Amino acid sequence: MWTLFFDIDGTLIKTGGAGMSAIAMAMMELFGIEELPNVRVQGRTDYAIIEDLFRPFSIDVDENIYEFKRAYWALLPASLDECGGAVLPGVFELLELLLTRNDVAVGIVTGNTSRSAAIKLSHFGLDSYFRFGGYGDHDADRNKVASLAKQSAFECLGEQFNPEKMWVIGDTPNDICCARSIGSKVVALETGGCESEELREANPDLLLSSLAENEAFVKHVFGSPT
Ligand SMILES: [Mg+2]
Repeated sequence: MWTLFFDIDGTLIKTGGAGMSAIAMAMMELFGIEELPNVRVQGRTDYAIIEDLFRPFSIDVDENIYEFKRAYWALLPASLDECGGAVLPGVFELLELLLTRNDVAVGIVTGNTSRSAAIKLSHFGLDSYFRFGGYGDHDADRNKVASLAKQSAFECLGEQFNPEKMWVIGDTPNDICCARSIGSKVVALETGGCESEELREANPDLLLSSLAENEAFVKHVFGSPT
């Protein structure tokens, strides 16, 4: 069984910054903080981003994480409506095509918390395609998230799971790095805003401009020797 792990932001969808916008509103609502520090978000876990946002204000992560996530999740649906994101080119077509194959299982690997991932996927009508996943709820380390995704696939697929036939599909060097950490091959996409040169330097097995290149995707991912 081929096992494919898709990243969400910049890979399946673009949200127009809805996640950060909801996080900023939650910071305002809970702590009265209006000006956020500049924090890198691409390819990172929600947990790592929250740690970086809390640190300059000496807000304790363990003490405040539950209330913060509750506020963030409550604000996210309206933020998604307002920010006018979209499903990226070729995504529905590829996922439908993968559904027709009984030798492919599809899951998620994302820095999003599991709940924010579910909110985003259902907002864009993508929630029914994925059977398992690894999420950024509890860990700042993206490689740990990939390890959770692999574990989740194994638990879902049982003896059908083959660690020699894993692919991660993502849009940042971090996705490529986390794929390698679990022994997975990787497709890198230019849809998330990373320069192709930056992605190429991280040495993916395949680099595509978008998932609209369905034919190249299928040929390379399933055609390569295992
Ligand atoms: Mg991404």
